[in-house]
Amino acid sequence: MKACTVSIGNELLNGQTTDTNTSWLAGRLFDAGIITVGGWIVPDEIDRIAGALKAAAEQADIIFVTGGLGPTDDDLTRQAVADYLEVELEFHPNILDDLKAFFEKRGKVMAEKNRCQAYVPAGCEILENLYGTAPGFWCQKEDRFLAVMPGVPAEMKRIFDKEVLPRIQKIHSGFIVVSGKVRCFGPGESTIAQKLGNLMDRSRNPLINCTCGAGEILLHIVAQAQNRKTAAEMIDRDKKMLSTLLGEWVYGYDEDSLPAVIGSLLRQKGHTIALAESCTGGLVSKMLTDVPGSSDYVMAGWVTYSNEAKISQLNVPAQLIENHGAVSEPVACAMALGAAKKAETDIAVGITGMAGPGGGTEEKPVGLVYIGICMGGECFVEECRFPATNRDFIRRRAALAALNLVRLQLQI
Ligand code: ATP
Ligand code: MG
Repeated sequence: MKACTVSIGNELLNGQTTDTNTSWLAGRLFDAGIITVGGWIVPDEIDRIAGALKAAAEQADIIFVTGGLGPTDDDLTRQAVADYLEVELEFHPNILDDLKAFFEKRGKVMAEKNRCQAYVPAGCEILENLYGTAPGFWCQKEDRFLAVMPGVPAEMKRIFDKEVLPRIQKIHSGFIVVSGKVRCFGPGESTIAQKLGNLMDRSRNPLINCTCGAGEILLHIVAQAQNRKTAAEMIDRDKKMLSTLLGEWVYGYDEDSLPAVIGSLLRQKGHTIALAESCTGGLVSKMLTDVPGSSDYVMAGWVTYSNEAKISQLNVPAQLIENHGAVSEPVACAMALGAAKKAETDIAVGITGMAGPGGGTEEKPVGLVYIGICMGGECFVEECRFPATNRDFIRRRAALAALNLVRLQLQI
């Protein structure tokens, strides 16, 4: 089955809002074995919406429309879809009751404007929206299916998972596609590709694709088989094979994240951790504490941006900063040691570097970052030289590299 998306809204075409709905949907569809072959972004204009629907119907078996279901005058998707289906809008008293109840539950009275949301093109099935006012709808024109959902990402995602996906599974027959992910950190994309040899051959089943970002290499495995069980077994076999081949570069699978993997390792080993950050400004602490339950092992974090803070908060010797500079191996090490001592943890991380864009020198260019890892009183420092693309990228790379070093230490 092939899919197309149509995202509706002026705000998507004036730089105000990024169309995240299409990429999210394409990912979900891919996991369900449906390839997205095209996408349109159109303004809140009936003719353009109808035009995109017609063009999409020429290429896809199923079309996913998001946006323009609100109660305001610029929300025209209902009418555009009715035009495309060549039917009238039909009033649904039960939707109106639900709308009134939705507002009542929040201590409000429904505005008369919302009444238009109780109109749906004739012949469509209603897709319940528990998170908002606009219901979605599902219909078929000839042999093409159409799923229309609100633009608000949280509402769209819930409707897709609860209402649309089960309908797709009913109509989607033939080959089953199952996908899995192997997550690596450490080497570059070409090193991994070299190691994989002909495993990335385009005719292989499962197919292995590789994407990279901020130091992480993601291997997508896509298996096609007659049934889900066989495809899932093929994915499992490839995951095991890739793990053996890539060794310690592999940190997780599917939706695992580095902070969550480290969290499990810390908990398993009964270790605690503290963070001393300069150029990452607390990003490592943020990533680790994004994981629910991280209070079990994250004890403390310092953002010691100035030299004075490094000295007073973490007992970094002033002489060390004077002799080597704040961005240096000994200072990263002293920051980690200071944090471990102050927070009384088994492990601590110290990060100091040049996030840029200014301030770089020939000797210490933008992108130079020192990461100190202190474990059981011993400290080692890794020097990283990230490309000086931009500040955000360097900080993210540095934070992830620090987390990866912690992971490797915990896995020894
Ligand atoms: P409602 O959800 O009330 O039916 P709607 O479907 O018209 O309304 P909008 O009012 O156009 O949705 O948009 C609601 C919010 O969802 C806005 O913040 C908008 O920027 C966001 N949004 C709409 N479409 C997308 C999209 N394709 N990707 C990301 N965000 C979107
Ligand atoms: Mg809109």
